[in-house]
Amino acid sequence: MKVYNTLNRASEEVVPLEGNHVRMYTCGPTVYNIAHIGNFRTYVFEDILRRYLKYSGFGVTQVMNLTDVDDKTIRDANAAGVSLEEHTQQFKDMFFDDINVLNIEPAEHYPAATDHVPEMIELISKLFDRGLAYQSDDGSVYFSIAKFPGYGKLAKIDVSEMQAGARVSQDEYEKDNLADFALWKAWDEQDGEVGWDSPWGRGRPGWHIECSAMGMKYLGESFDIHTGGVDNMFPHHEDEIAQSEGATGKQFVKYWLHSAHLIVDGQKMSKSLGNFYTLRDLQEKGYTGREIRYVLLSAHYRQQLNFTFDALSASRAALSRVDEFTERLKALESPDNAGLPPWAGKARDDFEAALDNDLNVPEALAAIFDLVHEGNRRMDAGESDWSADAVVGLLSRFDEVLGVLATEKAEAGDDIVALADARETARQGKDWAEADRLRDQLHDMGWEVRDTPEGPKLKRL
Ligand SMILES: [Zn+2]
Repeated sequence: MKVYNTLNRASEEVVPLEGNHVRMYTCGPTVYNIAHIGNFRTYVFEDILRRYLKYSGFGVTQVMNLTDVDDKTIRDANAAGVSLEEHTQQFKDMFFDDINVLNIEPAEHYPAATDHVPEMIELISKLFDRGLAYQSDDGSVYFSIAKFPGYGKLAKIDVSEMQAGARVSQDEYEKDNLADFALWKAWDEQDGEVGWDSPWGRGRPGWHIECSAMGMKYLGESFDIHTGGVDNMFPHHEDEIAQSEGATGKQFVKYWLHSAHLIVDGQKMSKSLGNFYTLRDLQEKGYTGREIRYVLLSAHYRQQLNFTFDALSASRAALSRVDEFTERLKALESPDNAGLPPWAGKARDDFEAALDNDLNVPEALAAIFDLVHEGNRRMDAGESDWSADAVVGLLSRFDEVLGVLATEKAEAGDDIVALADARETARQGKDWAEADRLRDQLHDMGWEVRDTPEGPKLKRL
C-alpha cells in the first residue's frame, strides 16, 4: 500500500517502524463547538485509512485527541458563562454521537488534553534542557525556532527571512506570522478558573504541545502515521515536529497525510454564506448518516470535495443500486461451493489496486459499480453457475473498508449466535416447540437458520 507522504512530497510504500503494526495519530476535534461536515470529511478519510490498513493485514493503534483547552475553548466557555469543563463536555458527547452516526470506527485512545497537562509540562522541561525553550517577560514559554534546524521541513518554509525574536502567542496563525510559538501560556484574566501550576508559574499549555505530548505518550517517541486536514499542516503539525524532535532527537513521524478542504456548492463553507452544515443539520433534512458518509468518502482525500445536495441525492441512488444488487444476490439460488466468479475476482483486484494507490476511493467505488453492472447482466442472462453468496461475501469484505454498503452487517452478533445455539440445543433435545419458537424469534430479528450437513448456518434475511 502506497500513501502520499506530505513530508517528502512523494508517494511511499507503508512499512511500519515495528513489525506489522501501524501506530497512527489523528488530530481530533477542538471541542468548543459542534463539528461541521468539513471536520467529518477528515475523520472519514482517517477512518478509511485505518480500515484499509486493517484490511491489508496491518494491526492498527489509532489515537485521536480531544482538544479541550486552547484559545477557542476558553473564549467560548467564557462567552457562554460556564466552566471550561461544562462547555467542552457537551461537544465531546456530540462528537461521539456523530462519529457513531457516520459509522466511523472508534480509535483505540481518545485522550483529552486536560488529562495530560503533567506530560506536557515534562515535555516543555525537556525542551528547556535542550536549550530550545525560553520564558519571555510576560511569563509565557516559547519555542525558539531558530535553534531547531529542521523547522519548516513539513510546510516547506524558509525560516531565514524570519525576524529574530518575533513571537506569536495565539494557537492559530498564518505563515506570514512565522515566529517563536507558545508552549506554555502564562495565566491572565481571560483564563478565569482555567490554569495549572508549572515550574514557570500558573498557566496553560499551547495547542501544539498537546498533540506532541499525547502522541508520544500513547504511540512512543517515533511512530508511523500522523494525519489531519491540510490547514493543520502549518503551524500545528510543523510545531509538533519541532517540539517532539527537539525533545527526543528522533524522527517524530514517518508518514504525514493531509486531507484537502471541503467546500459547499463551490464556495468556502461559512456561517455568513448560509452554507455551513453540521451532521445534525443534514439529518434534520432527512439524510441518513450512511448517505452523508458516502458523499464524504466519495472524492479522493487529497482533492477538494465539493459538497452539494445533488451529491447527497446521487449517493442515495448509488446506495440503493448496490442494495438492490445485494438483495438480488441473496435471493438467487446458486451453488454454495462454486466460488467467486472471475469477473468478481477482477472487481476485487481493481478495488485493492485503487486503494493501494494512496487510497483512491473513487476508483474503488468504480470497481464496485462495475461489479454491480456485470453481476446484474449475468443474473439477467440466467447464469447460475457461480456462487451468489461468494459475491455477497465480497461486498461485505469491501464494506469492511467503506463502512457504507450494507447497513446490516452480514455477520451475526453475539445475541443472534446465542439464540441459534439455544435452538440447536433444543433441537438435539427433541424439544421441537422450543426450537420452532427460537427459529421464529431469529426470523423476527432478521435471521434465518438453515440446517446443513455441517450444522446450522445463519443467513441474513
Ligand atoms: Zn493535533
